[in-house]
Amino acid sequence: MKDVKVLLGDITLSDCECIVNAANRSLLGGGGVDGAIHRAAGPELLEECKSIGGCNTGEAKITRGYNLKAEYVIHTVGPIYSGSEKDAELLGKCYLNSLDLAKEHGLHSIAFPALSTGVYGYPPEKATKIAVDAVRQWKENNKGYQMKIDFYCFSERMYAQYILTLKNTNY
Ligand code: ADP
Repeated sequence: MKDVKVLLGDITLSDCECIVNAANRSLLGGGGVDGAIHRAAGPELLEECKSIGGCNTGEAKITRGYNLKAEYVIHTVGPIYSGSEKDAELLGKCYLNSLDLAKEHGLHSIAFPALSTGVYGYPPEKATKIAVDAVRQWKENNKGYQMKIDFYCFSERMYAQYILTLKNTNY
């Protein structure tokens, strides 16, 4: 797929204009990628998050990036994996709403972590398919708007899964 890449590494080092945080509904910080982003951005990020008032599952909110290279952080809340059909819908919405928000702010590059695949327990095989399908859908609905999308993977296993999913879906 044009402008879509899979990368292995720490998303806080991304040179995209915005990076996406796998946040929780309070937006008041957590472990995993959320903890890494807050550590790298500095305490002002938490201050701004406190003023936002949380975020519902499947939705997205934007803040500045402070000490990060990225100018903005988009905070989205993935579903806790339960095995129900609603999970997939909510996870897909996280990707779509994050991309919409980036576009609304005139941004042209975005880095995603593998939302919900850490403590929220989403199986990587399913989660990567949802991520790739959502991105393809968004690109089809936003033809003519350039958006560079990086899928950041924190493990070789997730990296291999994304490559396989992209291959299996013919991108
Ligand atoms: P969630 O609660 O949505 O499951 P986690 O932060 O626990 O969020 O995990 C989401 C994904 O982010 C996991 O695949 C995890 O390996 C990955 N991850 C953790 N730290 C980083 C990081 N610094 N950069 C990129 N990905 C990360």
